[in-house]
Amino acid sequence: MDLLGIDIGGTKVAICIGDAEGNILAEKRVATSSLGGPDQGLPRIVEEVGHLLRDQNRELEEIRAVGLAVPGPVSTKTERICAPPNLPDWVDVPIVHYLREKLGRPVFMDNDANAGALAEWEFGAAKHLNNLIYLTMSTGMGGGIIIDGKLHQGATDTAGEVGHFVLDPRGPKCGCGQNGCFEAYCGGIHAGDLKATLEKVKKSDPVALEFWEEYTERLAQGIGILLQTLNPDAIILGTIAIHNKELVMGPLEAALPRYAWKAPLEHCRIEPSQLGNKIGKLGALALAINGLRTL
Ligand SMILES: [Zn+2]
Repeated sequence: MDLLGIDIGGTKVAICIGDAEGNILAEKRVATSSLGGPDQGLPRIVEEVGHLLRDQNRELEEIRAVGLAVPGPVSTKTERICAPPNLPDWVDVPIVHYLREKLGRPVFMDNDANAGALAEWEFGAAKHLNNLIYLTMSTGMGGGIIIDGKLHQGATDTAGEVGHFVLDPRGPKCGCGQNGCFEAYCGGIHAGDLKATLEKVKKSDPVALEFWEEYTERLAQGIGILLQTLNPDAIILGTIAIHNKELVMGPLEAALPRYAWKAPLEHCRIEPSQLGNKIGKLGALALAINGLRTL
């Protein structure tokens, strides 16, 4: 069964052909900035899909479904992109309707964090565990929550927006307008040049160490809330944890007993994702698989 995945990220759009086992058979990338507004961008995506299929000598009819991972916020009910910060002109865009019409295949959309959670559930180390949480830990702190094997959307599609629960109302300003959000402490954008800071942490620079102590303490606080609220089987951590496993996991494991009870903490697998850079494309494919189950 061939599937098409489209992952619209902050810097690039990845279009891939894959299968239900998570094999990526072919892919193509274009810069997100080259899309422009939706008037040019939507036809461009369709055009690039056409190029990829032609390069691979495949027909659209061979594709069972299309999975579309986009920057949040989205409305899964109206199937529209709302107003993502990375795509400034894409306000309330009926992208699913458009692609379904032009491609003539079933199209299933969600935000990148929910797509990531489905990718972990479908293809990751915590495959098919009943209760799983995925944290993007990239520029922002997105989350996707799977409860009893199903993605939890919530009443207005904001379930999983864990980056914006407030850890301290007197804390740093967050991009969402609140103060002291989980993302304001643990999102990459607020850590400045994180790579340089982490190099300094490795060399025991006192300022960098102080920053990192607060970072990992706040990470434990946020994860503790998730452990106490949802008692998950696994919490899988994205980008920052993938690239800095020892620096993140050591202090995090040391801090967690201050924020969660023993039983939920000991039960839960907390670890960096093993899907690496493929998670965006796998998330889009997982959306297609998950969508086909609902038909
Ligand atoms: Zn916020």
